Amino acid sequence: MTSLEQLFGTNGFRGIVGRELTPEVAIKFGLAVGTYFKDKSIAVAMDGRMSSEMLTKALISGLQRSGVNVYFLGMLPTPVLQKYVKEHGELAGGVMVTASHNPPEYNGFKVVGSDGVELLNEEEEKIEKIFLSSSFFYAKWHEVKPVITLNDAIPNYIRHCLKHIDVDLIRRRKMRIVVDFGHGVSALSVPNLLNEVNCEVISVNSNIDGTFPVRPPEPTPENLGFLKKAVLDLDADLGVAYDGDGDRSIFCDEKGNIWWGDVSGTIIGKYLAEKHRIDKIATGINSSSLVEHVLSSLGIKVIRTKVGSRNLSKAMINNSIIWGFEENGGGIYAPHQYVRDGGMTTLLMIQTLVFYGLSLSEMCKDLPRFFQVKTKVKIREGELRKIIIKELRSYYGMRASRVETVDGVKAWFNDTDWVLIRPSGTEPIVRIFSEAKSKLNAEKMATEAKKIIEAILKDLKTDLH
Ligand code: MG
Repeated sequence: MTSLEQLFGTNGFRGIVGRELTPEVAIKFGLAVGTYFKDKSIAVAMDGRMSSEMLTKALISGLQRSGVNVYFLGMLPTPVLQKYVKEHGELAGGVMVTASHNPPEYNGFKVVGSDGVELLNEEEEKIEKIFLSSSFFYAKWHEVKPVITLNDAIPNYIRHCLKHIDVDLIRRRKMRIVVDFGHGVSALSVPNLLNEVNCEVISVNSNIDGTFPVRPPEPTPENLGFLKKAVLDLDADLGVAYDGDGDRSIFCDEKGNIWWGDVSGTIIGKYLAEKHRIDKIATGINSSSLVEHVLSSLGIKVIRTKVGSRNLSKAMINNSIIWGFEENGGGIYAPHQYVRDGGMTTLLMIQTLVFYGLSLSEMCKDLPRFFQVKTKVKIREGELRKIIIKELRSYYGMRASRVETVDGVKAWFNDTDWVLIRPSGTEPIVRIFSEAKSKLNAEKMATEAKKIIEAILKDLKTDLH
């Protein structure tokens, strides 16, 4: 069983329901968050998972017990909660009950500060410490406050998103878009958002269902076959798919090609550079070199960050960066908010296509081609994952032409070919990404990395005996 200490990952507090995550744990977590925020007001919202209502009620109980004011926003996407917190000065923070893209049996809590951005590590550690030591603040009976339920978060969010695009211009294009909600909560905000800009929305997997019956909550090229087919069959201009809580968006062009987040992020970056003169962007260390190949020629500085949306947000805030994106489809548009937002990213993509008067396949057709391989090795123990990265750094240090240690180890073999090995922040695995000009090289680098990890593991086991 995973220990409670390990539940605090790079994306808040996550676990399997009934195992690590129970209503009892949720009450304690509520008490810890309430003790951290003291006396203030905080917002709570939830995704559509089977366990979300159960955990939310328990979480709110714990929060009330600690004396904070709770504003309950209902079921909605994570970026809607984040925007609501940011826009309402009286709120000191918020908690989203969600496990984002994780399998159905998972759930979790994401805590955000008054700016809507996920708490920094050190802030989260304070909550963790309160939680683990049970040093809670208990309100007296007359200090417990009633929950205030609000229904205006989604309309507010839509109004704010529309401020950042040319609504009239997009309305005239009247795009037909297939939207795959993947049974997630984007289905509650995105249809109205796109209707506002006169898009014809064809919804796929739009029933919110915590068992995720048709596709898993993570949009990957392998599980977007239905979206591709719908785009082609219905002669749509564009397709888009969201993850379970709506902060990530993956696009499908009108020819049925799925483009990963670093490609769509680069295309939006190109638009923002040419139209709004941005001169720098941020992206994770795991994004394709395509980002530099396309954007550097436009004079844009590319800042690479550790993987994880918090790291991206932080780098953007520190460097006054307007646009940042992750390869998994998380896009951050700072004038709106410093967090990933699937709905806002979709509007920016539409705005980009309308600005150039091109389709997504036309925008992508001249991009340099890179081949990527993604794989993983299951390693349960956190300490073991750390040892492996250390060993790999020294292994590649002697063999690669250049090694970066921004996150895990990224070994370059020439200007285009690299392999990145890093421990996942949310799952008990080590991820391997490779990219090369040739498919064979990408496969070779990934296979080699996997073999080396297995050899290190074998050695370590031998040492233990
Ligand atoms: Mg998510």
